Amino acid sequence: MLRDRFRAISVLALLSASALWAQGDFKWPAGKRVAVSFSFDDARLSQVDTGLPLFDTNGVKATFYVSLKNAEKRLDGWKRAIAHGHEIGSHSLSHACTANYHLSSTMALEDFNLTTMARDLDQANAGIKRLLGVTPVTFAYPCGQKFVGRGLAARSYIPLVAERYLAGRGYLDEAPNDPKVCDLAQSMGTGGDDLTAAEMLALVERAAKRGGWLILVGHEVGKKGYQVTDVASLEAVFRYAKDPANGVWIDTVESVARYVAKTRAASTAQR
Ligand SMILES: [Zn+2]
Repeated sequence: MLRDRFRAISVLALLSASALWAQGDFKWPAGKRVAVSFSFDDARLSQVDTGLPLFDTNGVKATFYVSLKNAEKRLDGWKRAIAHGHEIGSHSLSHACTANYHLSSTMALEDFNLTTMARDLDQANAGIKRLLGVTPVTFAYPCGQKFVGRGLAARSYIPLVAERYLAGRGYLDEAPNDPKVCDLAQSMGTGGDDLTAAEMLALVERAAKRGGWLILVGHEVGKKGYQVTDVASLEAVFRYAKDPANGVWIDTVESVARYVAKTRAASTAQR
C-alpha cells in the first residue's frame, strides 16, 4: 500500500519533470542530440585497473571523483589518467553521508555545519593538488546528499559547492539534466552500476529524446553487479556513440558543464 503510494508519487514527479522540458533553443554541438558523461566515485582500484584501459582504448574521456586514501594506492595510474585527458574531481575529504548509512569513519552529515564542511572541501582540494597536481573543477556529493546538520539547524551545502566548483553532481537522481534550465551546482547523477547494455542504452535514448545531459555514476568497473559498472554495457554505449547518426556526445562532466554554461551565457547575452 505504502509502496504503491510511493510509486504513484514518483510517477507524478517524473511526469511533472517531463512537463518542464521546455522547447527552448539550446543546441548541443553540431550533429549531437544528447550529452553523456561517465563518472566514477571513490577512486576504487578497478577504475584504474580495468576502467582506464577500457576508456583509453575507446577514446572516451571520463570523470573520476577521487577519495584521497584510495587515490594514493594507484598514484601512477591517476597521473596517467590526467595525462590522457580524463577529469579528476573532488568527492570531499571525509566522504560524509547521512548517519543512517553507517559509512562515515569520522563524522556524519548530521554532525557537520557549513564551516566544517567548507573546511572539508578545501582540504580535499588541497590534497588532490598535492597528490596529483590538479585543482578539481567539479564535485560529486558523497551519497548524493547535499545537507549538513539536522532539523532546524540543517542547511544545504550546495552554495559552498557553487562557490568552489563549476558543477556539483548528485546521485540516484531520476532524470537527466535539462541543459536549458539545470542548476550546475546540483547536476543530476543517474546510477550507472549494475545495468545491462540494454538498460544503459535506454537511459541514453531517454535523455536523447529530451535533448538532455545524462551523467552516469559508477563505482567499480568490471562484471555487472552491486556497485559495479559492467564493461560490456560500457562497450555497447561506446559502440552506439561511434555511429554519428546517433548524435551522442560523450565527454567529461567538466567539458559538458563548460559547454552548457557558455551556451546559456551566449543566449542570455543575445536577449
Ligand atoms: Zn562515494
